[in-house]
Amino acid sequence: MDKISKPSVSPNPVILQSEGLLKYILETSVYPREEETLKELRNATTNHPLGFMGTAPDAGQLMVLFLKLLNAKKTIEVGVFTGYSLLLTALNIPHDGKITAVDPDRKAYELGIPFIKKAGLLHKIDYIESPALPVLDKLLEDPANEGTFDFAFVDADKNNYWNYHERLIKLIKIGGIVAYDNTLWGGTVALPEIAVLESKREWRRSTLAFNKAISNDSRLEIAHVSIGDGLTICRRVS
Ligand code: SAH
Ligand code: CA
Repeated sequence: MDKISKPSVSPNPVILQSEGLLKYILETSVYPREEETLKELRNATTNHPLGFMGTAPDAGQLMVLFLKLLNAKKTIEVGVFTGYSLLLTALNIPHDGKITAVDPDRKAYELGIPFIKKAGLLHKIDYIESPALPVLDKLLEDPANEGTFDFAFVDADKNNYWNYHERLIKLIKIGGIVAYDNTLWGGTVALPEIAVLESKREWRRSTLAFNKAISNDSRLEIAHVSIGDGLTICRRVS
């Protein structure tokens, strides 16, 4: 008889929740290797009232691996804020690489620009001050853009994630990666709605629907990773 009882939920929920473990990972493996201008940008962002929105540096480190493994040269970023993930991408694509970066909040981006300039990487960035949906639609108006992007990072309004996905799946090349941030939405995806702050409920519902739809999308291979606030990594396979 099988003596090992099979847990019906994650066997290690404590690990997923432990702040001490996160601190350990950051101090051991992430901060010592974080590029200097990136660290400076992250520190400058803590003064922004919405500073918590910056990409988790451990998730950033994982993104770097994907960029490198893909040899990514042409990327899209939806949701720039002060530019942590943008600078991270710029640092890890070749000299002639290009990032199309879209965000309606130019003011937040301006906080990051001096650090991107200091790193000498502004030339890689095509910043478009706009909501992302019309920009993606515009890109798709030219069929020559289809299947040409190596990597996309989506970190913006959660109620639009599926809209972004429908467009990005056409823009990304087969074998390319689209990574979606905040797909655990503060852990609320695993809570009953009643236990969730009202201000978080709408995007919790969007995230639940998005996660389900992504899981059912046969055009992708996925990994839903519990890093930062949840990162869903999708590789286009058809
Ligand atoms: N990736 C960033 C964090 C992004 S925070 C970093 O590493 O710091 C979320 C961002 O999404 C905000 O800057 C917000 O202005 C942007 N956003 C909100 N709605 C958007 C939309 N419709 N299109 C593009 N960006 C949007
Ligand atoms: Ca985020």
